[in-house]
Amino acid sequence: MRSDPSDYELVAPQNLSAVVALLAEQPGQWLPIAGGTDVMVQYAAGKLAARKLVSLWNLPELRRMEVSADEIRIGSGCTYTDLRRHEVVEREFPLLACAARWTGGIANQNRGTLGGNIVNASPAADSLPALLVYDAQLILASARGDRRVSYRDFHTGYKQTLLAADELIRSVCLSRRLVGYISYSRKVGARNAQAISKVCVAALGRVLGDVIEDVRIAAGSVAPVPMRLQKTEQLLRGKTIDATLSQRARETAMGEVRPIDDIRSTARYRAAVVGNLVAEFLQKMVEGRQGSRSEALARWNRLSSNDADREILDCCGSSAWSRELVACRPFDDEQSLITASDKIWNRLPLQDWLEALSKHPRIGEQKAPQAASVQSATWSAQEQQGVSAEGEAIQSALADANREYERRFGRVFIVCATGKSAGEMLEILRNRLRNDDVTELRVAAEEQRRITNLRLKKWLQR
Ligand SMILES: Cc1cc2nc3c(=O)[nH]c(=O)nc-3n(C[C@H](O)[C@H](O)[C@H](O)COP(=O)(O)OP(=O)(O)OC[C@H]3O[C@@H](n4cnc5c(N)ncnc54)[C@H](O)[C@@H]3O)c2cc1C
Repeated sequence: MRSDPSDYELVAPQNLSAVVALLAEQPGQWLPIAGGTDVMVQYAAGKLAARKLVSLWNLPELRRMEVSADEIRIGSGCTYTDLRRHEVVEREFPLLACAARWTGGIANQNRGTLGGNIVNASPAADSLPALLVYDAQLILASARGDRRVSYRDFHTGYKQTLLAADELIRSVCLSRRLVGYISYSRKVGARNAQAISKVCVAALGRVLGDVIEDVRIAAGSVAPVPMRLQKTEQLLRGKTIDATLSQRARETAMGEVRPIDDIRSTARYRAAVVGNLVAEFLQKMVEGRQGSRSEALARWNRLSSNDADREILDCCGSSAWSRELVACRPFDDEQSLITASDKIWNRLPLQDWLEALSKHPRIGEQKAPQAASVQSATWSAQEQQGVSAEGEAIQSALADANREYERRFGRVFIVCATGKSAGEMLEILRNRLRNDDVTELRVAAEEQRRITNLRLKKWLQR
């Protein structure tokens, strides 16, 4: 049935306050319209139930992108073209930039908005898997004020959202702290442009040494709402990528999606494609890891001694260690760097060991007495994730034991904390309190050597 324009009312307030006031006066009566690329398709098909439309197009409050040290806030009214042209989105959020490039054609990208894509709530929407892996937060606005929700909770079922009748999306927030990840995205459709996805996947992975430290995989068009592949992620975390793991990940991914047969594809095909894309992502992680390590090392080999020294000090706070390592350049690969580092560290005099140990924060605290650098402090916080996850009782027992250690040995207790819970660290600390001075310094130096090796690997993958 054709739509008759005279059946519709369209208003275009000049600011966001006027829009939310209107939504509050008659909740559920007014349908927001941003770029109109979904709404107008419904209108043209005679399927637009709403008769009153309130325009959000070009409202300045929704068109901003605000970048702070911690996050980027993208106004819900930003178009795909805005996203594609934004330097921080392009550089730090390639999965979103890629989704913007794939959405529709140029005309559609000039009009279609991120907020419209989210609220339209299609399981096939291209930007949504990217928002899932970046752990996006949404700021919802209404006359009652703003509230912040996790995007992961926003789509509650097929075409269902958390949005109240008087609310709209003000902005989408992405944390800038996801560094050192390899990113992967694929859209599988009849064509890349101007085609609705049969399957779309966005993924991020970070590898430490040979082990997958963190992985996030999301897929669209395979369930009533875009989904994170949590079982596959769980299988992969902490493992080394090889052919067996890749096959198991493929099967797990195929088993956890819930696709349907529809006009564009079959459930069987969609599940098989998801499995293939997960395997392709793992392959990319292997290649990316090797490539980025050797590039980082080659760049460091070329730096002036002063610059090379400043950079490597993030990994171990002894200036004698860094000076000697810099003097041994060039290194061909990660292994030769680590071998040289071990040799230098093991033959350093005691005062150089003590210098490095003094750069660590107390276990359970973020701030070192003389932290070597911001990067070193960030790594310390990541290494000690196990402590912040624990309850107050164990944290306070740890604080007491730390104080006793400092009274006994005159420096902070250090342990290679990666992967250890606070309880495990407390037990190690109590055992080490029984050591004599010489033994304890050797044990602490060995822990520092292990921390340095892990940090060198992280540093090469930054
Ligand atoms: C030719 C064509 C090709 C397309 N190709 C793709 C593609 O490849 N991939 C893809 O994912 N999509 C595609 N789309 C769909 C569409 O372009 C996107 O979903 C787009 O992001 C919608 O944004 P919009 O601003 O146009 O939304 P609108 O049509 O204005 O609104 C869509 C829905 O969102 C609501 N809404 C909009 N903004 C807000 C807000 N800030 N707060 C609350 N509610 C809001 C509206 O009320 C409406 O329910 C295509 C559409 C067309 C016509």
